[in-house]
Amino acid sequence: MGYNRLMLALLLAATCSLHPPALEGDVGRRSLPWLPPDLARQVVKHDRAFAAGYTAARRWPSEFHRRDGNPNVEMAIVAQCERLVQAIRKQRPFDEVVGGFGALAHLTLDHASPFLGTADSDPYAMAFRSFTVRALPRIPMVFYGQDNVFLGSPRGGIPRFLARKAGATSPLAALVREDVDRVGGPAAWHLLDDRSTTFGVASLMLNHAVSNFVNLASWVWGQAGGLVPTIPQEGDTFLVWKGEPRPREAPGSHIRIRKAGN
Ligand SMILES: [Zn+2]
Repeated sequence: MGYNRLMLALLLAATCSLHPPALEGDVGRRSLPWLPPDLARQVVKHDRAFAAGYTAARRWPSEFHRRDGNPNVEMAIVAQCERLVQAIRKQRPFDEVVGGFGALAHLTLDHASPFLGTADSDPYAMAFRSFTVRALPRIPMVFYGQDNVFLGSPRGGIPRFLARKAGATSPLAALVREDVDRVGGPAAWHLLDDRSTTFGVASLMLNHAVSNFVNLASWVWGQAGGLVPTIPQEGDTFLVWKGEPRPREAPGSHIRIRKAGN
């Protein structure tokens, strides 16, 4: 193997493949209604920079795509949020800023993945990735709400916020493995339908990633001096967006769902 081929192999080996290609773009789009509207409009305007940002983040050192260790994904998210606050305060060009939010979308998606910390070659992780691609158009657009305690906190609030959210995803990989085995193992993932546990897990992963990304981006925006309008919401409800996601102009366009059993 020549030197260039070897370098290429190393680079490819270092690319995070936890998610289907460009799933971060879906996180960005689905976040538009809930992001501070001024920021949402910049994300729309600089969508190519957003894509360049998450593509670059996929090739960041492998430590940044792991739950354990030092550094890890939580530290990478804290550092990225701080970098973004500084970039906005210093009035860096918006394509650079939006690129940074694209990278944050990647890290947030990693953080919400039930298979974070599993080898890329794990057949169940690969089956879940393939299933998610097929399920994506039918996953509803859910926002679990603004975390106003976090939004009002200093930087030390980020690890606490992430630790609270990580607890929700940790049992999900075991549920997917059990569900996939029920239909005959990872090679039979296509037999799973929209009523399967795996569909529920894919939906939770994506919507948690969206909700966490919106909260982190809103925290950054507020810390940098931007306006973060409150999204009115009762404690036991979540919000569902109907139709094409777009920056929020006025109240409306979304419906509220009361959580069952709460
Ligand atoms: Zn990653």
